[in-house]
Order: sequence, then C-alpha cells, then structure tokens
Amino acid sequence: METRTKHTYRTRLYSFIKNILVECPNCTGKALVDTGDNSIFQPMALNIRVVCGHCGYNKIIERRSNRSKQLIIGAAIDPYFHLPLWLKTEVGSDHLLWAYNMEHLDFLAAHVGAKLRERNGFRYEVKSIGAKLPRWMTAKNNRQEVLKAIRKLYSR
Ligand SMILES: [Zn+2]
Repeated sequence: METRTKHTYRTRLYSFIKNILVECPNCTGKALVDTGDNSIFQPMALNIRVVCGHCGYNKIIERRSNRSKQLIIGAAIDPYFHLPLWLKTEVGSDHLLWAYNMEHLDFLAAHVGAKLRERNGFRYEVKSIGAKLPRWMTAKNNRQEVLKAIRKLYSR
C-alpha cells in the first residue's frame, strides 16, 4: 500500500493529471484533454489532444515544439492548454472547488467524507488522508457547503 502520509495534496494532484475534463474552447461544452498513456513526468513524450464530442473540436499540441505553453498545476485550468476545467464550482464566496476528472472528484468526495466520519472515531483515516486537502475544504464550517458542491459537480 502506498504511504499517503508523505505526500502533500499538491503532489497527489499529479496522479489525476490525465484525461482532464475541460470546457470546449469552441462550443463551451464538455471536452476532454486526452493525455494518452503519457505521464506528466515525461514531458518530451507528450502529445496531448483536446477532443470535444459535441462540436468535433480536435487539437493536438506537441510540447516539444511549444515550449512557450507553460505547464500549470494547481489551478482551475488544465495544465496543458489552460482551458477552464469542466468540474468547478464556487463554495461560498471565497473558494473554488475543482477537479481534473471524475477520479479526482471521487478522491475529494471520499476524503471530505472521511473527515465527516471523524466524529465517529475514524481518526486514522482523517489523519492520513484528510489532512492533505486544502484546509478550507475540511474546515468544519465549510463541510456541508463542500459536500453540496461535490454533489453538484457529480451531476454536471
Ligand atoms: Zn465543442
């Protein structure tokens, strides 16, 4: 089993950076940043494509020939094209909840949920996993709002 305790949330984000759901730059529908089998740790091998099933938009970038496009991680945009993420919603007036894809959303749901179970004695889970999320996400007074936002994104 992997030891999550040594990983920060930011490091954990890297594992979700594939097949990212974004807003199509052409029709604003749900599109996919298809990363293929490439890993973010092999930047020279990347041939990343934006594909939209609604309007047929289909664009490839070769990072080798496009070094000006900086890799941005940890914002509500896809790291490659900088398109707005599909799975994002405001929580209160201060925070933006976002996920790269359903797997990432599942991760957030599971861990905010784990935090909820803290009161029932599941301290181990909370310590090892929940503590890695941004603090506002697991703050007691935000919890219901965060869970509501997660549910909203599931039905997006
Ligand atoms: Zn489109």
